[in-house]
Amino acid sequence: MDPLAAAIDQGTSSTRFLVFNTKTAQLISHHQVELKQHFPKEGWVEADPREIMNTVHECLEKTCQKLAQLSVDVSRIKAVGVTNQRETTLVWDKETGEPLYNAIVWLDLRTQSTVERLISKTPGRSKNHLKHKTGLPISTYFSAVKLCWLLDNVEAVRQAVLSKRALFGTVDSWIIWSLTGGRDGGVHITDVSNASRTLLFDIHSLDWDPELCSFFDVPMEILPAVRSSSEIYGRMRSGLLAGVPISGCLGDQSAALVGQMCFEEGQAKNTYGTGCFLLRNTGTKPVMSEHGLITTIAYKLGRDKPAYYALEGSVAIAGAVIRWLRDNMCIVQSSSEIEQLAAEAGTSYGCYFVPAFSGLYAPYWEPSARGIICGLTQFTNRSHLAFAALEAVCFQTREILDAMNQDCCIPLPVLGVDGGMTGNRLLMQLQADILCIPVVRPSMSETTALGAAMAAGAAEGVEVWNLNPDQLPEVTAERYQPQINTQESELRFARWKKAVQKSMNWET
Ligand code: ADP
Repeated sequence: MDPLAAAIDQGTSSTRFLVFNTKTAQLISHHQVELKQHFPKEGWVEADPREIMNTVHECLEKTCQKLAQLSVDVSRIKAVGVTNQRETTLVWDKETGEPLYNAIVWLDLRTQSTVERLISKTPGRSKNHLKHKTGLPISTYFSAVKLCWLLDNVEAVRQAVLSKRALFGTVDSWIIWSLTGGRDGGVHITDVSNASRTLLFDIHSLDWDPELCSFFDVPMEILPAVRSSSEIYGRMRSGLLAGVPISGCLGDQSAALVGQMCFEEGQAKNTYGTGCFLLRNTGTKPVMSEHGLITTIAYKLGRDKPAYYALEGSVAIAGAVIRWLRDNMCIVQSSSEIEQLAAEAGTSYGCYFVPAFSGLYAPYWEPSARGIICGLTQFTNRSHLAFAALEAVCFQTREILDAMNQDCCIPLPVLGVDGGMTGNRLLMQLQADILCIPVVRPSMSETTALGAAMAAGAAEGVEVWNLNPDQLPEVTAERYQPQINTQESELRFARWKKAVQKSMNWET
């Protein structure tokens, strides 16, 4: 009986638990629960940390039940990995185990004035002042800025810091601390890929940086210990998996890079979830972008293994625009209906939709941009709008790919894709048309979870997953070839760029 490895995939819109065969990478069973997002004020996005843990426990229990129905013995699960929405920031009390505030989600915009204040104290008033050390611009996106806000605005957080009871973490830290015992001896750790998204971490020395912490006024004692992405951190404390090592930890985009087996320099993947994230492996050396991309740690698969870096283009709103059309505009009842609706039109009929709900991330990094829909006529209907929303995701990816090709000098010949939106075939074909390169989607699209399970299974002391390139399982994939001519694609892209300019200057 082949050993199994599992992964908790805690995303922005849902939590999943998935179990894989370590020899074939086949998905054996899984369970998924949608996670509520809270929007207490305009621009604010929160998640309830207790609800996050409830969804984790529910997914674990339900998956174990499904395994039992399949007559699969849960004792075959030899390791659990964790992958998570990155940057989302939590502070909790280590004595009571209680969160001190809701998790501030990566998309949240409340820190816009904090960002302005921080940038104004840098010598050149530059958002890129910390980039040489962190790979990141100073932006609402990253954890340190959210943590600053919590320290400045939440009395309970301030008190807990003063009384040495506060622990900070991204979602991975919160889950691992909770599952390894919580206030009763839980381990407080994160991995290098998650740490590299905080603005507090030196991506060259692989350590928290005292200067960065002092820039943000963050007390270093509340930070988790930073570990590699693949090693035994602790063991599951309770439930049917009690005693199983938790031995993999990767931010979701890093996990997808591993799950797509992009282990070689130059390989890239794009994940279409709430946002959209294109990462290109740049090997063991960080590459600093000249074109608005960020530099991040891709993974470090073992204590003694080197850290690998990636250039990343992050788009804040991708699947979230579909969720918005569903929940706020009520033009569909489920996200998957959007494909049929857009296909009815087959074109946006000159309508362009820039969903800059949370400002624009790469390559613009413009927090004051706002969403616009332009090019409307009396003829425009909800099908055109649906089509324009899908096109927006593809155009945003095109902008990032162009920046990446310029930074790397070698154009990407083909794009590997995954994530919740990639089940939408119309979107995938549009993407190939707009990029003018083939788009390849593995038939098993849960690559984020697969990456975390691989990291967990390969950890020293577990070793049920062999990551040698010649031992990796074959994956079958769907391939989408570009079908429209380059001229038409360029014309549409040029119009999109005009619309983006308007979204950045809509008030003037
Ligand atoms: P995350 O990991 O960020 O939680 P997922 O990878 O689970 O995201 O993808 C969910 C997102 O994808 C949601 O925002 C949803 O609106 C969108 N989505 C799911 N299915 C489709 C579809 N068939 N067409 C378009 N968008 C979809």
